[in-house]
Amino acid sequence: MSKEFYSSSEFEASSGLDLDAQIELLAEKFCSARRIAFLTGAGISTDSGIPDFRSSTGIYQTTSEELFSIDYFLANPGDFYRVFAVFYRGIVDAKPNSGHLAIAELERRCGKAVDVVTQNIDALHSVAGSTNVAEIHGTIRTASCLSCEKKYAQDYFDSDMRSGRVPHCACGGVLKPDVTFFGEQLPEQAFVQARRAMWDARLLVVAGTSLQVYPAAGLPRECDAGAPFVVINKTPTPLDSQASLVFHAPIGEVLPKAVSLISPKS
Ligand SMILES: [Zn+2]
Repeated sequence: MSKEFYSSSEFEASSGLDLDAQIELLAEKFCSARRIAFLTGAGISTDSGIPDFRSSTGIYQTTSEELFSIDYFLANPGDFYRVFAVFYRGIVDAKPNSGHLAIAELERRCGKAVDVVTQNIDALHSVAGSTNVAEIHGTIRTASCLSCEKKYAQDYFDSDMRSGRVPHCACGGVLKPDVTFFGEQLPEQAFVQARRAMWDARLLVVAGTSLQVYPAAGLPRECDAGAPFVVINKTPTPLDSQASLVFHAPIGEVLPKAVSLISPKS
């Protein structure tokens, strides 16, 4: 099997295999790739109890997207934080699941660089132990002052956000969670890191995202044309037809098994 390039005929051949055989193929790809990148979305965190914002049971079914627009936040921080408290508690109290842990374990077992680019704001990849994480929609674990831009860690604002109070900077300014609101630019540094991860990847695994939201959905196109990619998502994605392996199966079923097949690097 070629390490560097997988044709669509390989996909057609592998798609006829049963799940365990496809998981073995994935483990082989992990071993042979010089550098691995993951692009993850809400689907990897649903097993941690964090709802997908856009799915049929997601947050946007019961809450207007306007709540997460920067204009609404700036005009109504008090109203925002009263509603936000329930989301905040649900996200910061969540624990990494077997999918997050498998990616962190892969990095330890392979002893090679594993870049994680995530659309999620829950920081669960870092909590699980992944070391190269680009959070392209920001993180709920820090917040910054709208007046002086000072950044605060979670301990500082945790009790205010939990109870729906507006957190304030030492300077008196209002703190805003460091997540990307509608109407805001993505964090530049994280996006540069994400593109670099795509360029460097010799294997890309797209997990738990149906790649509907740009610019994140465009990131796989930054990869080298010869780098194979794998899709693990409950529902079909626009990339499925070009992927060398496609799993429409739970991440928690595929990734831990694939990683367990890799011998730990001594
Ligand atoms: Zn300030």
